[in-house]
Amino acid sequence: MVGFVMGELNRRIVTDGQVFPGDVLKVDSFLNHQIDPEIMHEITGKWLEYFKDREITKILTIEASGIAPAIIVASTLGVPMLFAKKATPSTLTNHDLYTTPVHSYTKNVTNEILVSKKYLSPDDKVLIVDDFLANGEAALGLADLVEQSGAEVVGIGICIEKSYQPGRQKLDDAGYEVYSVSRIQSLANGRVEFLSE
Ligand code: 5GP
Repeated sequence: MVGFVMGELNRRIVTDGQVFPGDVLKVDSFLNHQIDPEIMHEITGKWLEYFKDREITKILTIEASGIAPAIIVASTLGVPMLFAKKATPSTLTNHDLYTTPVHSYTKNVTNEILVSKKYLSPDDKVLIVDDFLANGEAALGLADLVEQSGAEVVGIGICIEKSYQPGRQKLDDAGYEVYSVSRIQSLANGRVEFLSE
């Protein structure tokens, strides 16, 4: 494609990613099981550049795969990183929590995700980050937790967006600003095709 320079993450998806049935892209050799810190820095550097000047006070993600990039961004900005949990710790009761249901694309189960009310406040400006964007359930759930607290979602940073699935459109329609480092146009026939950058 003329004028299309492939970024490092896309290159890595082509060389090391595997397409599984159900439109699942397996990238666990560098992104969400074994983790390549170089790729993480490449991704988080792009988020930081895109969302600079947003006066971010907190990074929010969901356990487990979002935590690695989230901690790098938080550490660079010098702000706390908060991750939504998928199970209630015995030390917290329901009225201490913001909760919302999220349907997992890869596991086909619905979990109540939660954060402690103590860690989100109305003056927070929150950057949400996650590894994948597919149907948008995880990102919309995280945004809902932020909205419940009265804080502001200043943006959503995604490592890999499957642009042909409905999540991106849903987030755009809800008025959130989304930046995805890799945008996949198709995984048809086991082949990865990207949207041009
Ligand atoms: P969504 O909530 O947008 O439907 O899906 C996002 C979540 O599902 C991410 O947190 C990610 O863990 C998982 N996910 C969605 N699609 C894929 C995929 O193709 N590969 C992998 N490894 N995870 C995915």
